[in-house]
Amino acid sequence: NHHPKVEANILVLGAENVGKSALTVRFLTRRFIGEYGDTDSIYTHNVTVDGREVCFSIWDSVYPQNPSTQGCVTEEQLRWADGFILVYSICDRASYNVVRQQLQRIRQLKKRSGVDKAAPVIIVGNKRDLQDHREVSSEEGRLLALSTNSGFFEISAAETYHGSLVVFHQLLESVRDSRNSS
Ligand code: GDP
Ligand code: MG
Repeated sequence: NHHPKVEANILVLGAENVGKSALTVRFLTRRFIGEYGDTDSIYTHNVTVDGREVCFSIWDSVYPQNPSTQGCVTEEQLRWADGFILVYSICDRASYNVVRQQLQRIRQLKKRSGVDKAAPVIIVGNKRDLQDHREVSSEEGRLLALSTNSGFFEISAAETYHGSLVVFHQLLESVRDSRNSS
């Protein structure tokens, strides 16, 4: 009766309607359903990496109705997370700004609460299929990632499974690297 140990807690953040749930469900089920609930959900998922079973928890968060100016990341979330996925929509400028705020908030909270985990970040520009409605350039995403030492991908959760796979696997690798080097 062997239960794999939880290897990593992954917190998915970002504004409303950017595809946080679509990305999470795509990764977990390989499918795009199109409509998702609007409650916080925590999933556990096993993957085999290098022949070894690894267990993740993924917290698909909900952006609050009345957001504070600080990007709405709580200290509880900061303590829980070993890695972050921050999602915006390439056709929603405001959602890019929410990701910027949340990155800043994470930095401040870390300092203030004394949480001393590396907790790597991947920034995701989703809805890449909607090129005609693009409001945020790829360069802006890349620059934000560079300036915050984060990973960056543009994906379409609607069109492919591959993008979600790469995002989660890359983050898991970064979490491991950060543990091995600390
Ligand atoms: P959340 O509020 O961030 O969890 O966003 P959801 O995952 O619920 O997605 C919000 C809406 O965007 C839904 O109608 C999805 O079907 C749609 N959506 C999510 N990802 C994509 C995408 O990559 N491309 C397009 N065109 N629509 C998407
Ligand atoms: Mg959602």
